[in-house]
Amino acid sequence: MQINQTHRTVLRALAETVVPSMQRPEDPTGFWSLSGSDLKANLAVEQALTGLPEQQRAGLLALLDGLHTHGFAAASPAEREQLISGVAQLGPEAAAAMHALVNYALTDEVDQRIARRSLEAQIRLHAAAGAQEIVPFAATARRWRAGEDLEAFIAEMQSLPLGVGGHRLFSAHQMSSCRMGTDPATSVANPWGELHDTPGVYIGDASALPTATGVNPMISTMAMAHRTATAIAQTATTAASAVH
Ligand SMILES: Cc1cc2nc3c(=O)[nH]c(=O)nc-3n(C[C@H](O)[C@H](O)[C@H](O)COP(=O)(O)OP(=O)(O)OC[C@H]3O[C@@H](n4cnc5c(N)ncnc54)[C@H](O)[C@@H]3O)c2cc1C
Repeated sequence: MQINQTHRTVLRALAETVVPSMQRPEDPTGFWSLSGSDLKANLAVEQALTGLPEQQRAGLLALLDGLHTHGFAAASPAEREQLISGVAQLGPEAAAAMHALVNYALTDEVDQRIARRSLEAQIRLHAAAGAQEIVPFAATARRWRAGEDLEAFIAEMQSLPLGVGGHRLFSAHQMSSCRMGTDPATSVANPWGELHDTPGVYIGDASALPTATGVNPMISTMAMAHRTATAIAQTATTAASAVH
């Protein structure tokens, strides 16, 4: 299956949904007004699709066809978000793609309460720090400007749903789900990434970090993977010389 004009239209709309153009009174460099398609993200994705194996490309193009069938390109930003969240129901490939993503259902009452509390705290912190403007990460939300009623703004933000159609929630820095440590009761792998229960099996990715770094983790992940690989290589060398 080859990329056609319909796929390109949907890709463009997707890029403009993920990175929408934002109109701001002061935008001397035009930074805020640039959308995902202005940055040519859709063209980069198209190029990446072209290089994929046929089966994977066909699955992803079928996703774009599915979004087109549901009127994605002509939909409003809120409707587009709704459609993206419903994408898993388009077919088996779509379901597989969506299930490959880490998904947090914010259905637990305690989680919801904490999310709401942190939302309010973030607004108050920014206002206390002298923010001139507070822009919530919700497609349907208005922004607050210095001098406006902060309590009314907080109440308004709390009336929006958490998730689709409201505050966007996502995470890009998952860590520590198979953490390293010395105690098998509180860790999965030893400090060299080797599983406590299964010697010879190593974990060398971000999941092995003992706890969340609290900052961008990529360099730490790379350093740890290098350290783990070096340890494996040394173990292999020791084992090989023991055999000879
Ligand atoms: C949008 C976004 C922005 C980010 N920005 C930054 C940033 O600016 N700075 C920063 O430091 N960090 C950033 N991160 C985080 C950083 O990318 C990750 O912390 C880091 O890549 C984690 O490395 P990893 O090896 O654990 O996982 P990954 O890089 O996700 O690697 C996992 C690999 O395993 C493969 N895989 C998965 N399942 C299987 C399977 N069953 N069989 C075979 N292979 C499989 C995947 O294809 C993938 O190649 C960002 C992440 C995201 C999503």
